[in-house]
Parts: sequence; structure tokens; C-alpha cells
Amino acid sequence: MATGARCALHPDVSAVATCARCGSFLCGDCTEVVGESPYCAPCVAVLRREARPSWVVQVALGLNVLGLVCLPCSLALPLPTLVAGLAGVVLSTRELRRIRRGEGPVRGLMQAQVVRALGWGNLVLSAAWLVALLWLT
Ligand SMILES: [Zn+2]
Ligand SMILES: [Zn+2]
Repeated sequence: MATGARCALHPDVSAVATCARCGSFLCGDCTEVVGESPYCAPCVAVLRREARPSWVVQVALGLNVLGLVCLPCSLALPLPTLVAGLAGVVLSTRELRRIRRGEGPVRGLMQAQVVRALGWGNLVLSAAWLVALLWLT
């Protein structure tokens, strides 16, 4: 089979796909599938750098800021803060793992770290709040 397009990096190998971003020919070894589309390695790197942070982490960030602000208002039970903290820790840990595996957007790294720190802060604060309440009553 000497006909057909060749891989841009490996001239002696037939191309099996074209990069969805830059259009260069790719052999099986060079093809990286993101979502449903084939990409070359440099384009995958660009995509990861430019990808927006996961919306889940942004929601968790909002929840945790709210939880922190609401803590002084929730006199009896710091439940919203506790839930927000728990969600923040779980979601950001999952996102950090995805980023480390190269599946998540690198741009979201800082945000995920902030959410994890806030989440732990909220967990510790609401736990301390509960302990203080129990102590006082
Ligand atoms: Zn490409
Ligand atoms: Zn190749």
C-alpha cells in the first residue's frame, strides 16, 4: 500500500487521520483523540493550555465563598458551610487528579487548588463551630 497520505512526522507510515485543529496528517502513533476528534500532540498541548477551567470547580468555588460568608449567619447549624466545604474538597481533588493525568485543563490548576484550600477551611471552621456550640450548651 504505497498510495495515500503519509504521516507528517513519519514519512514511511500511512496517515490514518488528520488533526482537527491544524489539519496535518497523522499515523496511529501520532494521533491523540480528545473528545471525539483526532489531534496531533502540539495541538493537544495548545488545547489543554487554552481550555477553560471546569465549570464544576467554578461552582464549587462559588459555593465555598458563599459558605464562608454565611458561616457567621448560621447560628445554630453551619450546615451550608459544611456541605460547601465537603463538595469543594471532593470536586477539587477530582479535578486536580484529572489535571495531573493530563485530562483536565492546566489553566484550572490554580483555581482547583484555591477551591481545595477553601473547602478544607470551611470544613475545619464548621467543625470548630459545632464543637464550640456543643461546648457552650
Ligand atoms: Zn494539529
Ligand atoms: Zn506519525
